[in-house]
Amino acid sequence: MDQNRNTSTEGKHFPAQRFKVYTARQLEQIPQLAQLDEQLRFEMKVVASVLPFRVNEYVIEQLIDWNNIPADPIFQLVFPQREMLDPEAFERVAKALQQELPRAEFDAIVADIRADLNPHPAGQLEHNIPTVNGERINGIQHKYRETVLFFPSSGQVCHSYCTFCFRWAQFVGDKDLKIAARESGDLQAYLREHPEVTDVLVTGGDPMVMKTRNLRAYLEPLLSEEFAHIRTIRIGTKALTFWPQRFVSDADADELLDLFTEIQAAGKHLAIMAHYNHWRELEPAIAREAIRRVRETGAQIRAQGPLLAHINDDAEVWARLWQSQVELGIVPYYMFVERDTGARRYFEVPLVRAWEIYREAMQRVSGIARTARGPSMSSHPGKVEVQGVTEVNGEKVLALRMIQGRDADWVQRPFFARYNPEATWLDHLEPAFGEQRFFFDDE
Ligand code: SF4
Repeated sequence: MDQNRNTSTEGKHFPAQRFKVYTARQLEQIPQLAQLDEQLRFEMKVVASVLPFRVNEYVIEQLIDWNNIPADPIFQLVFPQREMLDPEAFERVAKALQQELPRAEFDAIVADIRADLNPHPAGQLEHNIPTVNGERINGIQHKYRETVLFFPSSGQVCHSYCTFCFRWAQFVGDKDLKIAARESGDLQAYLREHPEVTDVLVTGGDPMVMKTRNLRAYLEPLLSEEFAHIRTIRIGTKALTFWPQRFVSDADADELLDLFTEIQAAGKHLAIMAHYNHWRELEPAIAREAIRRVRETGAQIRAQGPLLAHINDDAEVWARLWQSQVELGIVPYYMFVERDTGARRYFEVPLVRAWEIYREAMQRVSGIARTARGPSMSSHPGKVEVQGVTEVNGEKVLALRMIQGRDADWVQRPFFARYNPEATWLDHLEPAFGEQRFFFDDE
């Protein structure tokens, strides 16, 4: 362990804190909810029966402004709201709860509703799962040539759950649907056979829920000579928001930072892909201290997150988020379009409006904060960026660009769709200029 590591910001000391979490069953025990009226609490219970719910004490006490309920963006980020379900689904579950139906009947209703919520967008389960010696390897996805996604089995929860999570189906106890790794051996076997892979993205859930020793078991082997082709290790996490104590005051926080240092000493780039939705997440002193300590190891923090109605569909919020990130040494990386799954009906923003917000936010920050790409859809053919609305030969069109593609040849290809101010996802768009298909439809 690095005995000289500075564990404080401006002399501020951060004592260890207990991680206390509430799930759907403990909703009623959250003291702050007692101030809300009974109907609102019941509505939360209904929605939390279908969509995952989990929130920890730090988020409740440090991030939510309880004088601004229900509008508070962090409240919206973690607490279920009635409109997240369609009215019919809501009524079915509400009635089932009121009638106190037997468990099996209740579960069947919930399963039925979940199945309608597109639990695996962009073919997450059927596509991109690689094989070694003809056998499918769970816990690994390989969609883009240079990047392998790895889902360590012990990192498939989060310190809290986002109400809009596109991986929500993993958290609702459906074991068959869970994408998880058996062991790091599979990952190594796969990477040995794929010298074209340069990047490993460790993701979840949130890999930062793992103890450092577990994370080390996955990452340390990749530092050896046989994996010299792995140049970048990325870790996708929201722990900098939901539990910054992970990097500051948890018992193995220092060991974690030592691991980060070692990864870079082995010549790899370590990129922390931090999920942020609102500048408020960057305000608490401990959140800033976590960023400072991670950066002190030499790791680069890149920030990404979706654009969401009720949380951040406002150019001012994004401009302040990007500006704060830059001041803290974080690189704004992506603005995503909310995926076509789960509570999407509540959060979705039309693509045209998303682009307007992106553009207005860009106009309010200096060039150094304009590194975020977007608005970007992680769709089945690849990552598609909305470049803007324009007119070509008198036809109003949406200009789009494939930033990342299933086929490497598609990368950076521009294309056009007919103007549609209501479309919220790629499959709502039609090719412009009377064409029948987009170029990637012929795959
Ligand atoms: S942190 Fe990421 S994986 Fe976890 S609930 Fe939020 S969006 Fe989902």
